[in-house]
Amino acid sequence: MADLEKVDVVAVAPHPDDLEILCGGTLAKLVRQGYRVAIIDLTSGEPTPRGSLETRKQEAEEAREILGVQMRINLDLPNRVLMDHPDNRFALGTAFRRLQPKIVIAAFGRTPAGSPDHYQGGLIAEAARFYSQLTKWDDRFDGTHPYRVPHLVYVPFPSDAETRSWPGTFVIDITETMDQKLDAVQAYRSQFDDNRFDKVKHYLSSANGFIGSRCGFLYGELFTLPTPVGGEDLFKLVHGGKGSIAPVQLPGKDHLPLQ
Ligand SMILES: [Zn+2]
Repeated sequence: MADLEKVDVVAVAPHPDDLEILCGGTLAKLVRQGYRVAIIDLTSGEPTPRGSLETRKQEAEEAREILGVQMRINLDLPNRVLMDHPDNRFALGTAFRRLQPKIVIAAFGRTPAGSPDHYQGGLIAEAARFYSQLTKWDDRFDGTHPYRVPHLVYVPFPSDAETRSWPGTFVIDITETMDQKLDAVQAYRSQFDDNRFDKVKHYLSSANGFIGSRCGFLYGELFTLPTPVGGEDLFKLVHGGKGSIAPVQLPGKDHLPLQ
């Protein structure tokens, strides 16, 4: 990992397949828009009941190719017992220092019926983002230089997205990349056999359909910020346009307005 090229966006999650499910459509779209994107998997995702280290690695690489994401790194932190520990913060902070992203997208939130790694991974990402800028600590970051990540964006796990009141949320239109997202999820055949994939596909079509419909899109992915969404120009922020962080689209001619 010593000679990594810089990227525009780094997306972080505990397990291979988390990011495909949560924001695969947006990652594919970022690449189409010309940005350099790296995925960081904190763990291999193994052991699981259905996979092996080798198959998970191949599936993750296949999913990366489908999304078109330029880089995928696995930090090999421990699965199932992932904890927000200083050493894990240093490992991720070192990756941030090398990749120097403008934006970190971190999978975040509690999954009470799922892996506790999800919540711990979000805490590690927050702390690593803070740590990576600190001076006089380069020995803990493999001799790399301090780097400040300008923006942290959360992509919330669904159970938290539904229960928490976030200060700022926005939705990215993934209509054009929804198929890529589903194909990337399907690449994880060890986790989703045909029967399970049909259920996941149904879930994602419904969930991303609902999220998108609130902003006038066929399919959307939800993101949140630790702060309210800030803007300089109310017209651009609300009406949309290149560079606005939260284009809000009211249902137009192509969509059924709620009456
Ligand atoms: Zn997971």
